[in-house]
Parts: sequence; C-alpha cells; structure tokens
Amino acid sequence: MKLYNTLSKKVEEFKTLRETNSENFPVGENPKQVNMYACGVTVYDYTHIGHLRKYVMDDVLVRVLRNAGYDVKHVQNITDVGHLVSDDDEGEDKMEKGARKYGQSAWEVAKKFEDYFFYSMDKMGVLRPTLSCRATEHIQSQLDMVLDLEKKGYTYIIEDDGVYFDTSKLAEYGQLSGHDPRHAPRESRMGEIANKRNPSDFALWKFEKAGENRQMVWPSPWHPRSFPGWHVECSAMSIEHLGPQLDIHTGGIDHIAVHHANEIAQSETYTGKKPFARFWVHHNFLRVDGEKMSKSLGNFFTIDDILQKGFEPAALRLLFLTSHYRSEQNFTLQSLEANQIAWRKLLQAYLLVKKNHHLDAEISQEAEQLAKQFFAFVENDLNTPEALTVVWKVLKSNLSDSDKYHLLLEFDRVLGLGLVSMDESDLTKGNEDLEIKDLSVDLQKLFAEREIARRNKDFVTADRLRAEFEQAGYQLVDQAGTVVIKRKATH
Ligand SMILES: [Zn+2]
Repeated sequence: MKLYNTLSKKVEEFKTLRETNSENFPVGENPKQVNMYACGVTVYDYTHIGHLRKYVMDDVLVRVLRNAGYDVKHVQNITDVGHLVSDDDEGEDKMEKGARKYGQSAWEVAKKFEDYFFYSMDKMGVLRPTLSCRATEHIQSQLDMVLDLEKKGYTYIIEDDGVYFDTSKLAEYGQLSGHDPRHAPRESRMGEIANKRNPSDFALWKFEKAGENRQMVWPSPWHPRSFPGWHVECSAMSIEHLGPQLDIHTGGIDHIAVHHANEIAQSETYTGKKPFARFWVHHNFLRVDGEKMSKSLGNFFTIDDILQKGFEPAALRLLFLTSHYRSEQNFTLQSLEANQIAWRKLLQAYLLVKKNHHLDAEISQEAEQLAKQFFAFVENDLNTPEALTVVWKVLKSNLSDSDKYHLLLEFDRVLGLGLVSMDESDLTKGNEDLEIKDLSVDLQKLFAEREIARRNKDFVTADRLRAEFEQAGYQLVDQAGTVVIKRKATH
C-alpha cells in the first residue's frame, strides 16, 4: 500500500506505527491497526457535493486499507463550536452565525446539520466512522490540553480576547506547507488580532466579548463565559480516542497551512511525541462549472439537489472516482449525466452476470490477473481513475459470467457503489418525467431550439436535435402536443 504523505511530499510505502516500532507496543496488540483521524464538518449549514467528494475519498481509503488486511479505527469529529468565519481567530463563530441565519438555537442548528451530514453520507454509500465525536462533548479534554500548554509556558493571554499559542517558542512550525510563516515578512491582514506576538500565533481558547451574549459558552479559569478555539478540538479528541500518535490524518488541502499546522504544534507540545501524525492525506477541491461553489453563483448542490434532478447517488460517486483525490475536479451536470449512463451500463452488466453466474465456478487465471491490476491501482495512492479502466476492461472481456460477477463484487468492496444490494428495480429508477429546469444549461438551450423547429414543422432539424438529446442520455417523448423528457433507459 502506497500513500502520498504531505509531510514528506512523497508517495511512501504505508506502514502503521506498530509495524515500524513494534517493540514499543504491548504484546498482543494488532500491528495492522490503523489509527486514522479525519477532520469532520462544521455543522452550521448544509453538506454540499464538495464535502461529499472529500468523505467519499476518505471512505475509499478506509475500504482499501480494510481490504488489504488492516484494522482501521476511523475517528471523525463534528465541529459544533469554535470554528470562526476567519482562520485568523477573528470574526463570528460559524455556529452562532448559522443559528441567526436559520432562526434556531446554535444547538438546534448543530443537530439539524449533523443529521443532514449523515443522511448525505448514507446516500453516498460512505461507511460510518468507527467513532464520531462532537467538540461540545469534549470540552474538558480541550480545556485540559490548554491548561497543560499553559503550564509548559507556551501560551499567553490577550485581554478580552483569549488564550493564544506562542509559535515562536517552537523549534519548528509549518512543516506541512513547507514554509514557516513565522519567518515571512509581517503584513497586516484584515481581521488580524492586534496584540498577537507573532502573526502565526493562534487562539486556543476564546472569551465572550462584552455584550455578545453567545449561546455556547463554558466557564474556564480565565473567563466565566468562554469557548474552545477550533484547532484544539481535533488535537484533544484524536489524542483522547486514538493516542498520542496517529497513523493517518486526513483533511482538505485548505487546512494544510493553518489548521493542521496548529494541530501539529499543540499536539506535539502536549504529548512530547513526534510526529503527531505519520501520514497526512489531503484532498483537493471540487469546482462546479470551473468556479468555486457558492450559493450566490447558483452552483451549490446538496445530495437532495442531485436526487431531485433524477440522478442516482452511485452516479455521483462514480464521477468522484473518475478523478484522483489529489487533483482538483471540475463538476458539471454534463459530466454527471455521462456518469449516470456509465453507472447504468455497469449495473445492467452486473445484474446480467449475477443471473448467469455459477457459485462454484473456478476463477480463471485471466480474471485473477485483472484483479491484481485493479488492486495494484487502488493500493497505489488510491488511483481510482486507473482502477475504473480495469472495471470497463472486465465488462468488455470474454471472461465467463461467473468470473465477471466475482470480480465486480470484489472491486465494489473498495469502490463502494453498492452493487451487492442492487436488483432489477434499480434499473428503472430515475425514469420519471424530468422538468426542463433539471437539465444542464446546454441541454435547456437544445430543448428550446428543438421546440422552435418542431413548431415551425422543420422536422429535419427537430429530429437532428432529438438525436443529440439521446446522445446525452435523454429521451424526448412527443405526447399530445407536449414533449415529455425522460432519462434514457440503457437496457
Ligand atoms: Zn481538524
């Protein structure tokens, strides 16, 4: 198993801490246990497809490791307090902001969007983490960590603001991003705290401001109404549940420079052990139509938006798998349409070989060869795009139906498309009538052009445009003067 490690900036052979340092572990502990921590969501708004890509790829990592014989303990946090709108420890808490936006209490908003997160994950076939932990239920361990850092002399207090970590006390800082921001020329940024000793110092604990009247506050030795900073929750909870050193820590690439740099600083100071995480796995961004996703641009999609357009979650999952997790991926409705067609083909082929397979058939050498190829790809830094080429190769091959059935099920254990639970009824799903607004912008234009041609009785043009529609995976049915749009069935 090989994984790219942001810490070394290299693809490395993956080994657990126990495999490399077995003498320091009690006899009887499984050397193949992987302690993995994944930065979870801040539950102040709806989970969107950018999140879905990140957690689908975390899920593939867990599945590949388990398939390779590792016992993965996967801990994932729920940030339900302390994440400010800016990484610079200034601005509003996202939870309090969400509470105002949705007219509910911060606690209600946290529950609502945590539920939506898991609903989205279940739809996408993402396995639940071994342990999901909420920041608000780990206040004491976060406080204990900050008190320890204070005792060791790594903190200072900014009056009416909070307890800060002094990054100048560290020998090393910023190892992940490869540049130490402490040595960068100081520039004043918007929202930067005036009394910080160093620009890279960060808040461990924040105090309620006068007149702020926050919903989520706890007493601390420094202030009667205070709350933990965002970074400390991941360190405190991962150490509490997984021990002082992690095998794998995952997160988005946007966390490398600040959030993860700070996790390393406070964790290693607290435990005295290096490295805090042996492998840092970072996921790249998802863009939509080439832009950053935002509600104001109208390119913000939740899983429900995708379902309402008649797509299946497996098609979206397949789309994510076509791109490597370290590459930026550009989502378009056209690419989702293409993957919906591909998913239908795969499902149809699977159902056919399922019907025809013989349980006691021997696996051919050729099939074993293809399985080897597939697993070599996924175990090489999760190369899912190449692994998918093996899936299509199997479908096109002359292998027996039993071989194909066996391989597809084996592959799907790591791809997680959910073939094993599919039956004939899944093939007819998504065949409901679609509305024009459910189509991509290009297809909407095409539809309008065809309508004009049809009304003008220009049947040559109308038929040509209909053929273009069918190529995109849709069917136009002329019914009593109107046109009904359906997703094209592939069988
Ligand atoms: Zn985190």
